[in-house]
Amino acid sequence: MGQLRQSGYQITANAEEADTVVVNTCGFIDSAKKESIEAILEAASLKSAGKATRLVVAGCLVERYRDQLKAEMPEVDAFIGTSQINDILNVCNPKTNTRSLPVIPLGNQSATYLYDESTPRVLATPSYYAFIKIAEGCDRPCAFCFIPQMRGHFRSRRFGSIIAEAHQLAEEGVKELILVAQDSSRYGEDLGKQDALAHLLRELSHTDGLEWVRVMYTYPTHISDTFLDVLAEEPKAVKYLDMPLQHASQNVLKSMRRGGNRASLERLIERVRARVPDIAVRTTFITGFPGETKEDFKELLAFVRNVEFDRVGVFTYSNEEGTPAYDLPNKVDSKLATQRRARLMKEQAKISRQKNRARIGETVRVLFEGESKETELLWQGRMETQAPDIDGCVLINDAPEGFVPEPGEFVNVLIEEAHEHDLIGRIVI
Ligand code: SF4
Repeated sequence: MGQLRQSGYQITANAEEADTVVVNTCGFIDSAKKESIEAILEAASLKSAGKATRLVVAGCLVERYRDQLKAEMPEVDAFIGTSQINDILNVCNPKTNTRSLPVIPLGNQSATYLYDESTPRVLATPSYYAFIKIAEGCDRPCAFCFIPQMRGHFRSRRFGSIIAEAHQLAEEGVKELILVAQDSSRYGEDLGKQDALAHLLRELSHTDGLEWVRVMYTYPTHISDTFLDVLAEEPKAVKYLDMPLQHASQNVLKSMRRGGNRASLERLIERVRARVPDIAVRTTFITGFPGETKEDFKELLAFVRNVEFDRVGVFTYSNEEGTPAYDLPNKVDSKLATQRRARLMKEQAKISRQKNRARIGETVRVLFEGESKETELLWQGRMETQAPDIDGCVLINDAPEGFVPEPGEFVNVLIEEAHEHDLIGRIVI
């Protein structure tokens, strides 16, 4: 979007208005692939209705199914994979004959793209928060995951480049930075640096204008004490750990090729909580991985009950061709996987409700976001322990007479009610 805007294109979020429609796709799991295909077909119908003249499909789905998509979707003018971002101007140019584009072979060799601080950007998020990608790709062997094949080998951005980008974003009014990568906790390893994520987080926490720096997608074997100490010591480093664990039974973790067991994960969470008081721990699990027995699932359930995570997301296993798990025997019936998912979520709902209820009467610092997404009768915001889009929020039902904060401002909210995901309260001065 940044490159397009810089060369004179106008960007619209309304596809009906566009001459050129670009569909950026995901190719991770079944549900994401379906959503991507639906979006492409919707865009194609705009083209056949004479609204758009050019349709470009970009991203991971292209990286994974380039040949198939080309063969089955003649209405698409150009496909660009994850490493062809710099071709965007070329494929959007009405003079380009898109059939003459270079064909990039499938697989790791092609995925080398890494942006830097000079890459033009258009924020697709509200103006007060922004994501920064600190690394790309992944070298881990998780058996269910196709990402390494779509995104290539792990490679980190330079330290200085990330700092420079953070400064630019802070100057533009961003208050919350969210650091992402496929494997964040490994940041800097390939540059020969130790504990680079901890250093990066510390440095970013000293950026004028920023208020929160959040890290997403850490890996359980790479949570160093140095990193935890930065979370504990730096007021702007949010007390929040997002760490997908996927399972807790040793058998399942082993066949997922992730290692560890329930006891080692429990010790890890204890260490995290001991070093960073009041930290919120978020994780995700997969139910129905091939070979997951009743006992394995019971162990996962007991683990969740015992650890009392602050937030949990649960996915059912998606059988992805080209991954090692695809060839594993003892596939779990998808209905059973869905039931287990529901059971696990029910267990977590109880825990979340209790944890939220314990906050009633507390006054918390909230990043004000404006009108609630659910109803125009309420406002909403987030505490530092709530990441945008994936966690709950703080709904605001009252404020002192005449007090109307701007989105991106920080306010104090007295919590008066609590639900499973969201808290409800009023602004106090
Ligand atoms: S660490 Fe994440 S991205 Fe990498 S292989 Fe495992 S699940 Fe996939």
